[in-house]
Amino acid sequence: ALASAYATVGDFQSAYTHLAAADQARRTRHREEVQRRASAMQVRQEVDKARAVTEHHRQLSTALAETAATLEALGVIGREITASLSAMAVFDALKRHVNQLLDVTTLLIYLIDSTGQTLSCAFGIEAGVEITARTIPLHSRSSNVARCVRERQDLLLDVVANPHDPNLIPGTLNTLSLLYAPLMIGARVLGAMTIQSVRAQAYGARERSIFRALCAYGAIALDNAAAYATAEAAQRQADAALGQLRETQVQLIEQNHQLELLAVTDRLTGLYNRLRLDQTLEQERARCARYGTLFSVIIIDVDHFKSVNDTYGHQVGDLVLIDVARILYAGTRTVDVLGRWGGEEFLVICYLGQDGALLLAEKLRRAIEVHRFTSVGHKTASFGIARYRAGEQVSETIGRADAALYRAKQGGRNRVEFAD
Ligand code: GH3
Ligand code: MG
Ligand code: MG
Repeated sequence: ALASAYATVGDFQSAYTHLAAADQARRTRHREEVQRRASAMQVRQEVDKARAVTEHHRQLSTALAETAATLEALGVIGREITASLSAMAVFDALKRHVNQLLDVTTLLIYLIDSTGQTLSCAFGIEAGVEITARTIPLHSRSSNVARCVRERQDLLLDVVANPHDPNLIPGTLNTLSLLYAPLMIGARVLGAMTIQSVRAQAYGARERSIFRALCAYGAIALDNAAAYATAEAAQRQADAALGQLRETQVQLIEQNHQLELLAVTDRLTGLYNRLRLDQTLEQERARCARYGTLFSVIIIDVDHFKSVNDTYGHQVGDLVLIDVARILYAGTRTVDVLGRWGGEEFLVICYLGQDGALLLAEKLRRAIEVHRFTSVGHKTASFGIARYRAGEQVSETIGRADAALYRAKQGGRNRVEFAD
């Protein structure tokens, strides 16, 4: 406006100066405006960036919290699974926990058979219902499980729904997401586990690593269970063998006992035999020497026994001997030692002095005298008694008893005589 006024009055110099100044001022203002706009834009950009970073952090923290929760759950599951001592308990734990972490419609566990050639379905469940699957040859080209085991690598398949899928187990759901992982202990492979979902693209990297962890736990637990079962079977076998051994031992002891008894038993009468009588006499002699105990011997000889054999035969004679043995057995105490001395002679070792031994012999003599023997009728016996004298040999005692017996025979038989 000033430049135009100066121009009107003809001062073109001043008009030009003012025009130039106005132009300068306009340019300065414009530059300032541009600068202001630029910094406003920058501020907006900074704010947007800060928002994005915040959002990213928020997502990260959510993911971290999720991962922490997953890891914690896996830890708990791992502890539970690996603590299981039977394969069935392992399957049960896997079944319960796999659903907790992953979207699973179908869970199948295959184990390599003892032949090493086939994979048997050890456990299967679909939509909460237990299922069984066919056995798969390890070399099968069409089986994903076989491939997973052969390659010892996990396998993720996202398939398009196809009811004519040759891999589809008849009567099972057509699953669209399939995840396979080998069950490995170091370099050893036990089998494979698969989880499948009817949902498409159900498994990503996260699911894959969770599944791998579950398979690692499962493999350890199944291997443990197998080792435990083997150990238990071995223990059972050892227990059974030990039981058998003990039984055999008891039988042997019993047999030994029977043999020992047989060795000192007279076959005909069941009384002790000469061997046992000799042993006992020697024992009693030793006891007397050590403790001054007393004992007496009574020799019993059936009177005119030869005539029994001659008249009725040897067998009837045997029966008479058995009867005499019974009578003597019934008439003596368990502490007395009674045996067959030989032929038709018997011996009693008793812990009595003269009076007691005389009484016992008299009682036995009377018992035989009154007995009625089958076919033979009445029989008698003569008795010779001797008391052991400290320091003498057993044969001397027996010799004195024999002498007493001889006197009883001489004195008319059916009598008792004492040696001294
Ligand atoms: P005594 O003693 O009264 O003088 O006459 P005895 O006939 O008993 O005497 P002896 O010692 O001569 O005869 C014993 C007989 O016993 C002789 C033998 O044939 C018989 N004898 C010995 N042992 C057995 C046996 O185990 N069974 C039978 N049936 N007879 C036996
Ligand atoms: Mg005789
Ligand atoms: Mg006789």
